[in-house]
Amino acid sequence: MATTLTPILTKFWDAPQSWTLATYEDNEGYQALKKAFGMSQEELVNMTKDSGLRGRGGAGFPTGMKWGFLPKPDGGPRYLVVNADESEPGTCKDIPLMMAAPHFLIEGVAITSFAIGCNHAFIYLRGEVVHVYRRLLRAVEEAYAAGHLGKNIHGSGFDLDVTVHAGAGAYICGEETALLDSLEGRRGQPRLKPPFPAVAGLYARPTVVNNVESIASVPPILLHGSDWFKAMGTEKSTGFGIFSLSGHVTRPGQYEAPMGITLRELVDMAGGIRGGHKLKFWTPGGSSTPIFTDKHWDVPLDFESVAAEGSMLGTRALQIFDETVSVVRAVSRWIDFYAHESCGKCTPCREGTFWLKQIMTRLENGRGTQDDIEKLLDICDNILGRSFCALGDGATSPVTSAVKYFRDEFEAGMHTPWWEMFPPERSVLF
Ligand code: NAD
Ligand code: SF4
Repeated sequence: MATTLTPILTKFWDAPQSWTLATYEDNEGYQALKKAFGMSQEELVNMTKDSGLRGRGGAGFPTGMKWGFLPKPDGGPRYLVVNADESEPGTCKDIPLMMAAPHFLIEGVAITSFAIGCNHAFIYLRGEVVHVYRRLLRAVEEAYAAGHLGKNIHGSGFDLDVTVHAGAGAYICGEETALLDSLEGRRGQPRLKPPFPAVAGLYARPTVVNNVESIASVPPILLHGSDWFKAMGTEKSTGFGIFSLSGHVTRPGQYEAPMGITLRELVDMAGGIRGGHKLKFWTPGGSSTPIFTDKHWDVPLDFESVAAEGSMLGTRALQIFDETVSVVRAVSRWIDFYAHESCGKCTPCREGTFWLKQIMTRLENGRGTQDDIEKLLDICDNILGRSFCALGDGATSPVTSAVKYFRDEFEAGMHTPWWEMFPPERSVLF
C-alpha cells in the first residue's frame, strides 16, 4: 500500500495568516503546553524518550535521551538553544516552518524548557533570513501578550523568556558548539567534544541544543501521545518528518510524511520528474550525504535503511537531478561551498577542501590530469575522520560517492569540458 502524506506541522500552511497566534489556537495551539503543566518534568522527558523522536537536524540523535543527559539541577541556570541555522544545501524545511507556523516552535520551546527546567531559551537563526527573524520576533511578542511566555505562565509558577538571535551567516554556526560560541559573542568555531553541551554548553552551563523541527514536533506528540507518534514511521525511525524536494521534480516543496517513505512515493506526489526526463542522481539528506542514483528509488527513507545503502538520511533534503546534469559540475558547486564555508580551524578541512576545489574545477572544465581522480580520493581519505567537526567529513561525501557511481564522467573531465557533454541549453543546474 502506498504511503500517504501526514500533514501535521504543515497542516495549515495554506491558511490565510497561517503564522498568527489566532490561526494556531484555532488548530489546537497551546493546548499541549497547558497539558504539560499537569505533568512532571520526568514524565515529559520519559514521554519524549518513549515516542522515539530522533533529532531532525541531521544526526538523528534521540531527543528524549539528549534531554536526559542534563546533570541534576544545582541551582544555576540551564538553557535550551534552538538550532535554527538551517544552511545545509538543499535543506528547506525549518525556514518554511518558521515562516508558515512559528507557534509550533514557540510552544515546543515552552514545553521543552519546562521539561528540562530552563527559564531562558534562545532561538539562533541564520543571519541572511531577515524576513524569518521578523516573523519569529512578532510570534514571540504575540506569545508573551497571550501569557504563553513570560512570568507565571498560565498560573503554573513557571517563568520563561525567549530570545531570538540572528547570526552573521556562516554555515559552521549550524554546528552546535560553533553556534554556542557565536551566541556568546565570539567567532563561531567548533569546540572540542566532550564535554557535550548537555554538560557544559552556553556560558559553560548545561544546555540542550535541538533543531527547529525536533522542538516543533513536541506539542503534537504531547497532545496525541507517544503511541500515536510511534504508529507512524518505522520501528527505529518513528513518526513523521518534513522532506524537502528540490530540483527536477514537477512540484518541488515540503512534503510531510512518515519516516520510511521512498523517493518513488515522494516524487509521485510531487508530479514526477520534470517533463520527458529521467532521474540521474539525488541526495537523500543534503549535499553532506553520499549521493544516490536511479538504483535507489525504493530505499525506505529512514535512518537505518539509508545507512545500509551507504548514505545518511541527514536533513531529508532530497535534491533531484535529471540526466541533463553533469555530476562533475554539481559536485564542483558543492565543493566550492565547503571550501568557502570551512572555518579554517583544522588543517585537513581547511587545506583539503581548497585542494578538492582546485581539482574539481579542472575536471569540470575538461582540464583534469591523469592522476586527478586518485588525488581526489586520497585527499578525501585524509579529510574523513581526521577533521575537527562534521563539515570536513561532509565535504568528502559528494566526491567519493559521485566517483563511485559516475567514474566515467570524472575520466571524461580529463579532456572534455562539461558543456560539451551536457549542453547548457538543456542542462539546468540549481
Ligand atoms: P553528532 O552525532 O556528533 O551529535 C548529535 C547530537 O547528539 C549533538 O547534539 C550532540 O551534542 C549529542 N550527543 C552525541 N553524543 C552525546 C553524548 N555522549 N552525550 C551528550 N550528548 C551527545 O552530530 P553533529 O555533529 O551535532 O551533527 C552532524 C549532522 O548535522 C550531520 O549528520 C548533518 O546531517 C547535519 N547537518 C545539518 C545541517 C542543517 O542545516 N540542518 C547543516 C549541516 C549538517
Ligand atoms: Fe572548521 Fe572544517 Fe575543521 Fe570543522 S572540519 S573545525 S569547519 S576547518
